[in-house]
Amino acid sequence: MAGCIFCKIAKSEAPAHFVYQDSDISIILDIYPVEKGHLLVISNEHYESIHDTPSRIISKVFRAAAALARIYRVYLGAPGVNVVTNSGRAAGQEVFHFHVHVLPRWRGGGWRTLTMRHRLTSEEAEEVVNMIKPYIHIIEEYLAGE
Ligand SMILES: [Zn+2]
Repeated sequence: MAGCIFCKIAKSEAPAHFVYQDSDISIILDIYPVEKGHLLVISNEHYESIHDTPSRIISKVFRAAAALARIYRVYLGAPGVNVVTNSGRAAGQEVFHFHVHVLPRWRGGGWRTLTMRHRLTSEEAEEVVNMIKPYIHIIEEYLAGE
């Protein structure tokens, strides 16, 4: 869809830090992370939000989110992970292209508000990409499973 930032990112027409990409989905770093490792799983095709996305794509996006939650909880020691999608402005959706937030919680202490986001630096981005890199096979296993 013209003017949609996530469409441009999925087609490599706008920059982003990628963790993973296949023909259906992309996993990128949120440019305004709430905590280090805040990722977005997006569909490559344009859908407004979960309410109009085909179930096959919803399944892939959430399988990838589940794999990332496992990577953070089991392999990287995060004591908590939020997996969240917002549908509609009334629910806090800001980019109207289906995406799921995967948000590791390193310190506990519950939900921090979106106003506590910081701007992603290239150093932090590189750190997060390298942190996930050894576990890409887990994402692939989740996506291949039934
Ligand atoms: Zn889009």
